[in-house]
Amino acid sequence: MIEDKNQERTSLSELGEFGLIDHLTKHFEIKQKSTIKSIGDDAAVLNFENKNVVVTTDLLVEGVHFDLSYMPLKHLGYKAVMVNLSDVYAMNASATQITVSIAVSNRFPLEALEELYRGIETAARLYNIDVVGGDTTSSNTGLLISVTAFGELKNDKVVYRSGAKPNDLLIVTGDLGGAYMGLQVLEREKEVYKVNPNSQPDLQPYTYIVERQLKPEARKDIVNLFDDLDLKPTAMIDISDGLSSEILHICKQSNVGCDLYENKIPLDPQVISVCEEFNIDSTTVALNGGEDYELLFTISQDDYPKIKANPNFTVIGFITEQEKGVHLVTRADTKIALKAQGWKNFNA
Ligand code: ADP
Ligand code: MG
Repeated sequence: MIEDKNQERTSLSELGEFGLIDHLTKHFEIKQKSTIKSIGDDAAVLNFENKNVVVTTDLLVEGVHFDLSYMPLKHLGYKAVMVNLSDVYAMNASATQITVSIAVSNRFPLEALEELYRGIETAARLYNIDVVGGDTTSSNTGLLISVTAFGELKNDKVVYRSGAKPNDLLIVTGDLGGAYMGLQVLEREKEVYKVNPNSQPDLQPYTYIVERQLKPEARKDIVNLFDDLDLKPTAMIDISDGLSSEILHICKQSNVGCDLYENKIPLDPQVISVCEEFNIDSTTVALNGGEDYELLFTISQDDYPKIKANPNFTVIGFITEQEKGVHLVTRADTKIALKAQGWKNFNA
């Protein structure tokens, strides 16, 4: 479906490992004052003075986490960075550096890796982070990409999953389910393409959700907004697996229960209409879809005036005593226990 726009195919073996690293990383600029030594030595050197540092890592595997038949490499590079920055922001920290490790088979020409690194570079520029190192090795089959992100905490305002208290409000940023429905559309177009390679997919009606899948944005703006509002959430997590499992993580680690209101879950109109088209329940999609990379957090009710009427935030429920359990309150006003749908990567 994605055409091979690169006519040129330079074999990786022409450059050698060191030539390749050099070629891919020569455009990276250093922006953070905490970066003392970047790419080029045996290790990078970072100086965070007396600030606490957060570190997080993710591994993306071709065929498990992404499908190159509809994921352009540039988007993959961008998304691999976003997935990690989202985890940094979910700690209420600001992201400062990343390392990027890749394993590639010789089926990828240099031009493909240039595309991947264009996406990484774009993400690094827009989010003001330095790429300070990585590793490059060969793979016998698919592509693997692992990103590690570093971030610093302002005034030790770290937010864990474990701080939610009964009566706190449960809040989510943005809207949910778009990334999952975008994936459904892309999967469908892939099947159509397999049957008829001359078909031209019309993705125009699906622009928003396809973008949510292919080019997610980590919510750096929200961490800055918390700072401006002088608001410290009591607990926070990013939505990578779906609202349901993230709520359960907060509740388990905070030893609390929760009532989530179905009629409050924020959905984009395009998500609602595509759910109708696919005959899927939009609440199920929001609960279990994942990959939206929005932030889910709890605040004390005293802080409600700080977020009230801010279009970035939707109050979707409240925290209860642990004995009450974790429930979805449906539109019909019945209570259903929330279940985790995680570990989807291990399902057959
Ligand atoms: P070593 O043999 O010590 O692992 P490498 O030759 O792998 O060193 O790496 C040389 C430099 O290039 C190091 O600074 C390393 O962090 C950086 N580097 C290697 N691969 C990548 C990559 N894929 N992206 C960014 N930097 C990389
Ligand atoms: Mg190495």
